[in-house]
Amino acid sequence: MKQPYLLLTPGPLSTTPTVKAAMQIDYCTWDSDYRQVTESIRQQILAVAHADPQTYTTVLLQGSGSYGVEATIGTAIPRQDATLMIAINGAYGQRISDIAAYYDIPHLDIVFDEDQALDPQRIAQALDEHPEITHFAMIHSETTTGILNPIEKIMPLLKARHIISIIDAMSSLGGVPLSVDDLGCDYLISSANKCVQGVPGFAFIIANQTTLAATADNARSLCLDLYAQWHTMTKLPGKWRFTSPTHVVHAFAQALTELRAEGGVTARYARYQANQQCLSQGMQALGFDLMIDPAIQGPIITSFKYPVHHFDFDDFYQFIKARGFVIYPGKVATIPSFRIGTIGDVNVTDIKRLLAIVSDYQQLSDTS
Ligand SMILES: *Cc1c(COP(=O)(O)O)cnc(C)c1O
Repeated sequence: MKQPYLLLTPGPLSTTPTVKAAMQIDYCTWDSDYRQVTESIRQQILAVAHADPQTYTTVLLQGSGSYGVEATIGTAIPRQDATLMIAINGAYGQRISDIAAYYDIPHLDIVFDEDQALDPQRIAQALDEHPEITHFAMIHSETTTGILNPIEKIMPLLKARHIISIIDAMSSLGGVPLSVDDLGCDYLISSANKCVQGVPGFAFIIANQTTLAATADNARSLCLDLYAQWHTMTKLPGKWRFTSPTHVVHAFAQALTELRAEGGVTARYARYQANQQCLSQGMQALGFDLMIDPAIQGPIITSFKYPVHHFDFDDFYQFIKARGFVIYPGKVATIPSFRIGTIGDVNVTDIKRLLAIVSDYQQLSDTS
């Protein structure tokens, strides 16, 4: 089957033919071979994230990335005497606030402009003003814009105050070097279909074992009980609580093998950065302005402002799609923009082909 286009979207993303091929077999869930695959994935995720297996564990959870975030929020925060602070500079930070609202979790949003990174100084000040804060959540790569937030500068503020930390590293883990041991965070969340380059179907949560062990009675949802999922997965190693996405799990195991073969996170980061640099420079040369200051821009996805003269995004999108690439609409309410992802099985040659298509589009619309 031929792919009609490459996905320049930040997950799901274009996977390799070998990752897709790993899904051609029907697997049994309770068989020891399968449990061994799950266990191996749990251990490999810790290695990718530089998380010491003595201190941390990985819990896999059916569903998309948001299921992992919701399970973490709904399980980490006790039903009484707890307040969550959420740092927001985009739609994914806002989603955590929405989850807290659904669960009636006392929470305090600290909101930043969507084209600005989280500011550690303002966060320190807010924490000093609110000694009731027990838990703190933030996004590493805010996929709304492509901003990479300075989590390494915020973590020490939380540790100094003994605040339990929750990091949504959905679109960075595997593609941007990070060390859970160095960060010392309590929870770090990602999913199968982002920078590890698997297909959609489960989320995973790296959790400090001591922190997680204290959450036994917190969950507000049966299916999204992170503690119960961990308990089952640990008691009988590699056993999922309910039916797991077996094909997706095997595709993910293959994706982890390919991440190692590429040279690990450092090599993947270099490829993503090369893609992003090529895209950013090429699009600017074609007259598209960046929405985000390059100093805070990550390698995952780039936002471009609509050109000032007449611009029909849908027409632009369809033109590009017909020539082999799918791009992404903008997500910032106040500034008309579109986004182009640079992750997945994509390299600089692909980005150059895209730039040539954008250039053709401009020449056609100039002469029409
Ligand atoms: C992709 C993503 C999520 C999860 O989104 P789903 O659609 O549920 O997979 C959460 N946070 C960030 C930063 C993301 O990029």
